[in-house]
Amino acid sequence: MSRIKKAARAAAGKVWLVGAGPGDPDLLTLKALRTLEGADLILFDNLVSPGIRALFPKAVPAFYVGKRKGDHSIAQQDLNALLVQKAREGLHVVRLKGGDPFVFGRGGEEMQSLIECGVEVEVVPGITSASACSSQAGIPLTHRGLSQGCTFVTASAESSLKVDWASLAQLKHTVVFYMGVSRAATIQNNLTAKGMCGDTPVAIIENGCRPGQRDIIGTLDSLVSLIEVNQVQSPALIVIGEVVSLSSVLKPFGLPEFEQSCA
Ligand code: SAH
Repeated sequence: MSRIKKAARAAAGKVWLVGAGPGDPDLLTLKALRTLEGADLILFDNLVSPGIRALFPKAVPAFYVGKRKGDHSIAQQDLNALLVQKAREGLHVVRLKGGDPFVFGRGGEEMQSLIECGVEVEVVPGITSASACSSQAGIPLTHRGLSQGCTFVTASAESSLKVDWASLAQLKHTVVFYMGVSRAATIQNNLTAKGMCGDTPVAIIENGCRPGQRDIIGTLDSLVSLIEVNQVQSPALIVIGEVVSLSSVLKPFGLPEFEQSCA
């Protein structure tokens, strides 16, 4: 690329779609941290923990553009337009998302819209919550003899949920539901109806890799009541499969408790 073209490109700014991981600042990647340090503007989601927000450079303006259920602070279309506008102003914009931007994070949609508008964009992967939170709970997502695979599924969809329940119920490997707390009855009823055994082990991991992580262990039959009795709040994951039974053995050897300073 010629020098002039390079200069024009730099002047045009750039967007980084960055994964912040599940919440523990120590699980942020070095690349994510460096990208934050080089940013002119940070736009972050509600899943970006206070511990990670504390790492934002003080001089860099940072705005919450999150989407809690039922509280869309900014519509996706407007957010896409904002990213394009700020990059065209020549800014280096970091769009920081919980977990990995490409796992139920709308990273693909945002990247597509930026590419269509001719804006330079780069994705920085993060540790997705299923991987980090289950490790913290002492649950390996795969384990020789127990599970030869793992499927990530969303339990919520903007319009209609098109989950192939029959296939999931027959997989005989680990299934992790994102955004499943308010859809527990749908999960329990559909999997049971399609033949998954009611005594299949289940873990609900609330606030994973953050202070106050709770791991609630039970069976598929008790999923709904476990969530009700324990008043589980989002963010939480639902892990279903035989690997959950390893938690009682592996949890005591998991990572140390998080320090309260992450709060
Ligand atoms: N891109 C994110 C997922 C966003 S969807 C990722 O890769 O992890 C939001 C859902 O992710 C939440 O409803 C919850 O199911 C899950 N989640 C994200 N962070 C979590 C955490 N720290 N503990 C438990 N679940 C979490």
